[in-house]
Amino acid sequence: MRKVSIFGATGSIGQNTIDLIARDPESYDVVALTGGRNTAQLVRDARRLKADVAVTAFPELLDDLRAALDGSGIEAAAGATAIDEAASRPADWVMSAIVGAAGLAPGLKALEQGATLALANKESLVTAGPLIMGTAKAHNARILPVDSEHSAVFQGLIGEDFDAVERIIITASGGAFRDWSLEDMAQATPAQASSHPNWNMGQRITIDSASMFNKALEVIETKEFFGCSHDMIEVLVHPESMIHALVGFNDGALMAHVGPPDMRHAIGFALNWPERRKLPVERLDLAKIGSFHFRDPDMVRYPALRLAHEVLEAGGMNGAIFNAAKERALDGFLEGRIGFLQMAETVEKVLTRMSVDTRLINAEMTLDTVSQTDHLARKRADEVMAEWQT
Ligand code: NAD
Ligand code: MG
Repeated sequence: MRKVSIFGATGSIGQNTIDLIARDPESYDVVALTGGRNTAQLVRDARRLKADVAVTAFPELLDDLRAALDGSGIEAAAGATAIDEAASRPADWVMSAIVGAAGLAPGLKALEQGATLALANKESLVTAGPLIMGTAKAHNARILPVDSEHSAVFQGLIGEDFDAVERIIITASGGAFRDWSLEDMAQATPAQASSHPNWNMGQRITIDSASMFNKALEVIETKEFFGCSHDMIEVLVHPESMIHALVGFNDGALMAHVGPPDMRHAIGFALNWPERRKLPVERLDLAKIGSFHFRDPDMVRYPALRLAHEVLEAGGMNGAIFNAAKERALDGFLEGRIGFLQMAETVEKVLTRMSVDTRLINAEMTLDTVSQTDHLARKRADEVMAEWQT
């Protein structure tokens, strides 16, 4: 039996992971499941999968969690330290599916104990790519990408020589506002930004898809994970979301990964790697689909894409600043403090203001320095948003 843990088990990726594991319970020994406010779901899954420990991110929910698990023999725990402790428990395979920079510390802990890390939490690579990749190397641990585009690139590279790769193309659906004018986007509400044409995902990544911040994070994620230069990475709008990525080689060949927009493919690929096993995803009927469409992304409507390349060019702590400012700006948009387009303006202002602090930008990357930078960037984002409100 393989020992597995799922961080962010109650979310969209977490639930899809549980769906796959629950189909074959004899093969898995579940160590830890973590969640947030949805403790009812956490308890149901912990009982069903017979986890050793269930952890909520919120200490004030510990008593409820403990009461709900009474008599089950499952440990209850709460808070960020408890999540880190759960990540330190030996496991063969760990799903990193917490949303946001909060996924960084448990991901590092899982790598330190040598687990294979299935990485859905792109924010940890954006925030601290060299730290994550370096920790994996130091502990001889493997990271498998779960983001659909990165899983697709990873699959396209199997058996290939990376030196023969000329370009990596990741696709974008275009999100909720694919065909909206800039004027309409400026007025968009959180409810309008929270519906995705093709994918069913958590609310934050869905809004990030509408602003293309998700694709911007993925450009950075591509560079950090595959170690390629950022000018090899292209974004292509593909409204059907069936080609997830393409790898271009020096002989002109393009290898495309095609599949239905169902995260259980990428999750299952990482779960079964290096084997391929049957997965319960739709088999595409291409004749019925008939055609695929492509276009270049509009850099004016989606400034996040330009910012991603600027961040990669500048390097250092800029990824941590970019991600933290984006997370805070998204909070501001959800709380009605700023408009949809002001998210990118906030992030750009924070990057500009913090760029003068070269000591901070070029500091040695540790969990502490990254956390301090993250904290400061959130503060700066709040200052920028407050200036607009007065
Ligand atoms: P979600 O919002 O559905 O779930 C997030 C999970 O994280 C929940 O279990 C929640 O309780 C937990 N969580 C939230 N804040 C936390 C905190 N501060 N500390 C600890 N736990 C916390 O999100 P999701 O859509 O499942 O996305 C999870 C991650 O996977 C994100 O990094 C996202 O970018 C990435 N991802 C998601 C998809 C998708 O299809 N949903 C696809 C690719 C990548
Ligand atoms: Mg993706």
